[in-house]
Order: sequence, then C-alpha cells, then structure tokens
Amino acid sequence: MSQVEERLAAARELARSGRLYPSVILDGGTAAERQAAALALARTVLCEAAPAQRPCGGCRHCRRVGWPGESALFHPDFAVLERDLKTATSAAATKSFARVATVRPFEARAQVFVVANAETFSPEAADALLKLLEEPPAGAPRHFFLLAPSRRDLLPTLRSRSLSLYLGSPEKLDGAVVSRLATAFSGALEGWLRGGAVVHLLAAAGVLATAGGFEDPRATRGFAHAAAAVRKVAAERPELAPQLLALAESLLAAGDLRLRAISAERIFEGLVVRHLVRGRASGMVSPPLVLR
Ligand SMILES: [Zn+2]
Repeated sequence: MSQVEERLAAARELARSGRLYPSVILDGGTAAERQAAALALARTVLCEAAPAQRPCGGCRHCRRVGWPGESALFHPDFAVLERDLKTATSAAATKSFARVATVRPFEARAQVFVVANAETFSPEAADALLKLLEEPPAGAPRHFFLLAPSRRDLLPTLRSRSLSLYLGSPEKLDGAVVSRLATAFSGALEGWLRGGAVVHLLAAAGVLATAGGFEDPRATRGFAHAAAAVRKVAAERPELAPQLLALAESLLAAGDLRLRAISAERIFEGLVVRHLVRGRASGMVSPPLVLR
C-alpha cells in the first residue's frame, strides 16, 4: 500500500468508527484525485451498511453522493460548495452553506459538506467556516472537507483545527533526474556509513539540492524529485529504509520551510542530518517532521 493509500485507509477507519474530525483537509494530488477521495470518504461517513463494509457503494446513501453536474442524484445530507465568483469562495456562499449545516441530518446519521476550492476562501468566508467549526452540530456529526492544492493556502487557524490528508505530489517527475539524484545520494551515504563523518551527510544533502527549481519559493517540483530519489535509495538499502522513508515524507512537506525564506540548501542539510543521525542514534524510526 502506498503512503497515500495508507492515509486514506486510516481516514476511512476513523469515519467507520465515528471518530472522523469535524474538519478534514484533502490536499495535494490532482483536482480529480481530491474529488474522488472526498466522495469516497463522504460515502464512508453516510453509508448505512455494517461499519466494516462502508462504503458499500450500493446503498441509498452511497449511490446519491456525487459531484454536482456529474450526478443527477441528490443527497440531502451531502453538499458541495464550489467557488461562486470567478476567483473566490465568498462569505455569502459560505453563509448559505452554513444555514444548511446548522440543521439536523435529513436522512443519514451525519452530514458532509465539501468545499471544492478551499484555497479560494475569502478571509470572511474562512471566518464563517471557523465559526461553524466552533459551534457544536445539532445532535449529529457534521464534517467539512476542505479541498485545496496545498494546505499552505489555508489559514493557520483552519489548519490547526483540521485533520490533513495529503494526497501526494501532483508533479510529473522526470525519471532521469530521479535516477541521477539517487545514484549520487547513495554514493554520499556510502561514505557516511563507512566513516560516520557528518561531512558525508552534508554532501548527500548537497546532492539533493541539485534537484533545482528552488528560485521560486512556491515551486515544489525540486522537493518532489528529491523525495522520489530518497525513496528509490530506501528500496535499495533496507537497513536505512525507515529513516529514509521518513526523510522522503519530510521533503514533500518542505515547501512550507521554503516559504519562510529558508534556503533550499539549509532545508536539505537540516532534514538529512536530522533524520539520519537521530534515526541511527536511537535505532528508531524518526517521526515525520512536524512543522511549526
Ligand atoms: Zn453504502
């Protein structure tokens, strides 16, 4: 199972046992992947089959959960808010959404509201949603799914109240670049494994920084290439796999650091040293980097 599939399976499990967060951010991936993940999770929440079978795909709830325009069927406890102006999801639209969200479910055990372009929330719209999240729902669970290319596009106050489900990099990777990075990274690691000198780790970090494209602080392609190279090396070096997989995961989230004007070189050095030195010292898998 890929890491994305594992995350989605964990979210489904929370939904089956009624423990899914009121607010869930679905970010990364393509728009179609975010929609598909949101629909599957909504069906898991609303489905009437036995918990282990949710989503069954065939019940009156599962069948009526669909994307607007693509399905003629309607579920009264499921709604999608798409951007109403060309560039924004306005406060007015969010408030009308909110009126539906403050009544009890009509048919299902719960309600699901999807914000299709949460990155376009106007500040007032985000505030309206935050207010809703602070009010307890009317007797039944109520979930908001916020879809966005990157959770970095959402207000920190929304992010801190939400479960984040990252659907992976939408970047198309260049296999030749990944191979080149993996070979050079693996060579530098070899030096470190032999002598233990941190200078080899700095060289390994330097290799990853040659992925390039870091002039634009919003670009994530360089980190996606570096993460793919590190995963490739992890497959070849089982003794380091836990640390390397944790490093790859951190690299995919490293764009947040870049946005705070930390140079790509410093980010690679910090993450490589942190995951490999600490991972080796403790003999344990490093937890994924927590960004603050
Ligand atoms: Zn069902």
